[in-house]
This record gives sequence, structure tokens and C-alpha cells, in this order.
Amino acid sequence: MKDAINFDEIDELGPQDYDATFTDITLGDVNRVEVAAVGAVHIDAHAEKGGDAEYVVDGSVQFAADFHCSRCLDPYPIANTSNFHVRFRPRPAASIEEDIEITEPEELDVEFYTERSIPLRDLALEQVQLSIPMKPLCEENCLGLCPQCGANRNREACRCGESAVDARWGGLAEIRDQLAKKREV
Ligand SMILES: [Zn+2]
Ligand SMILES: [Zn+2]
Repeated sequence: MKDAINFDEIDELGPQDYDATFTDITLGDVNRVEVAAVGAVHIDAHAEKGGDAEYVVDGSVQFAADFHCSRCLDPYPIANTSNFHVRFRPRPAASIEEDIEITEPEELDVEFYTERSIPLRDLALEQVQLSIPMKPLCEENCLGLCPQCGANRNREACRCGESAVDARWGGLAEIRDQLAKKREV
């Protein structure tokens, strides 16, 4: 199992295919609070020369993980497959780099390289990170936590809703009392 895309090898031998599984990608590697656990990450990739010193890598990444629901905070399992398309170009000299503006939509998949070897693990990890939603949800209509008592409303019906109604009536009662006082004055 090759563990890196090697541009010299592509120059020499033509397009290359890769297939690797990483079982050592940790939560620390992923580094996102939304993720509770991460399993094996599988990557398939095809790499070929795209142009002058440019290499095009297409492929897909599959992994299973547990995400924390952003509403109820419970972890829930997911299985994800994401396809990617990346063009690797040589990193320009620092002085030039400041002037580079990536404006074309098709330029968004460009990554710059300095080493002529790209570890598949890095590519796989990058795709895992890109596929983590900003606000994961265990289900679309997750009821979340009660803001008052913290109960998970998917699992239990707390009585806070009722007392919130009581509080509203309490407010009305106060107004009623104040009005009553004014009348007395
Ligand atoms: Zn939830
Ligand atoms: Zn409650």
C-alpha cells in the first residue's frame, strides 16, 4: 500500500492509482469539537499530470464517525463519503504569493505544494475535516435541550414549559395588581 502520492513517480510512470485505509486518525488530528469519535478512514485516489508542474488528484474518502448534535449534544453515528478534486501547483515564491488572487470558481480546488510527495493520510484527514458540518444535527427535528432544566427533550418531557406559562400569567397578575392599585389611588 503506497502511503503518498509521488509527483516524480507520475512524471516517470504516468497516472497512478492509490487505495489506503488509515486506522490511526485521532480526535486530536481532526481537532473539531463537533466530532466525538472517528473510525477508519479510507481513501481512493487517481493522480495524473495536469499541466506545467501541476498534478490533478481525484478521488473519494469514506469514514465513519460520531458527531455531537449541536442541539441536544448527544453523540450520533454517521457514515460519510465525499468526492474530491484537487489540483496541486508549485508554491509560488513568497513575494509573488501576496499578489495571487484566487477569483475563478474553478481555482478554489487549488493547493500549493513545496514537497513533491503528498501523504495520503493528509489528504484523507483534510477531506474528513471538510465534511464535518458547522452545526451537526442528530435528526432534522431534534428537540434539543430544555434551556431551563437541561433535560434532553427528545427523551423526556420536563415540566418547565408549564411553569413558563405560569410565569407569563404571573406577569399578567402583577399588571392586574398594579392597575388595581392605581384605581385605588
Ligand atoms: Zn440532537
Ligand atoms: Zn425543562
